[in-house]
Amino acid sequence: MRLSVVVPCFNEEASVERLHETVRTALAALPDVDVEVVYVDDGSEDGTLAVLRRLAAADPGVCYLALSRNFGKEAAMLAGLRRATGDAVVIMDADLQHPPRLLPEMVTLYRQGFDQVIARRDRRGDRFVRKMASRSFYRAINWWIDVRLLDGAGDFRLLSRLAVDAILAMPEYNRFSKGLFSWIGFRTAVVAHHNELRQAGRSRWSFGKLFNYAFDGLLSFNNRPLRLAIYGGLFLTLIAVAYMAWVVADAVEKGIDVPGYTTIIVSVIGLGGIQMMLLGVIGEYIGRIYYETKRRPHYLVRETERLVAEADEG
Ligand code: UDP
Ligand code: MG
Repeated sequence: MRLSVVVPCFNEEASVERLHETVRTALAALPDVDVEVVYVDDGSEDGTLAVLRRLAAADPGVCYLALSRNFGKEAAMLAGLRRATGDAVVIMDADLQHPPRLLPEMVTLYRQGFDQVIARRDRRGDRFVRKMASRSFYRAINWWIDVRLLDGAGDFRLLSRLAVDAILAMPEYNRFSKGLFSWIGFRTAVVAHHNELRQAGRSRWSFGKLFNYAFDGLLSFNNRPLRLAIYGGLFLTLIAVAYMAWVVADAVEKGIDVPGYTTIIVSVIGLGGIQMMLLGVIGEYIGRIYYETKRRPHYLVRETERLVAEADEG
């Protein structure tokens, strides 16, 4: 069988070489597997691309793509998946947080007929706040969206050709990959491993970015926030009608009086706030539609090991 390993890299010059060795070592245990490693340089500003060129020159099993700028991990993964030719494809990070020693076990499960093998990490060594935030995120999102997301299941996974083609058949611009992977379904197995701390470089995830990512997840899988807006509006209307009836009854019984301007101000501000929030939600969906309708490519490629070879000959 042929196995492709797809690695998105953004400023990973300190890790890539070590990762490559570790992957090679791990897969040496499977002599009957033909390995292709696809590195995607996502517009790195350090020496990552130079390292990739060197790896590709030294190892015929390596190919790489360099994107024209930083397009984000989702786009880089897509580029790698499109390029990969294997019967099965593993996606993993360059920073060694996804331990290559799991590869043989994942391949074994693939051979047993699983189309997705998810490597699931625990939260060892994560800071308490982060741990709690992730836990609430998963609880909220699983209650909210139609697909199931597993805490600790990231992008480190093996996909069969069937699953890869399913992912590639989804052309959307907003790619919330955790959701996409779950959406396609197929027979799925899980391999558990301990959380690895980053070996070098640093993570691009600030708390604010994670928060936005969580928001993306909540909005990108269905239109339930809009449904919630309808119910919320209905609820407030009913309250207003009841209150109005009460005010009218009160006026009929006791005569007209003009109290309660605080009530008016509070309800004007409160309702204004709710309306703005709901407009924001609608705006988010419209924004997504806007991006989807442009049908721009997800990324642009500026160099591959083949393009360089051609340039050298010319
Ligand atoms: N990455 C990428 N493009 C980006 C950001 C990250 O290709 O814009 C890659 C990065 O090089 C790494 C993987 O995605 O291989 C995961 O990134 P990171 O370690 O920063 O995320 P974390 O592990 O903290 O979730
Ligand atoms: Mg990482």
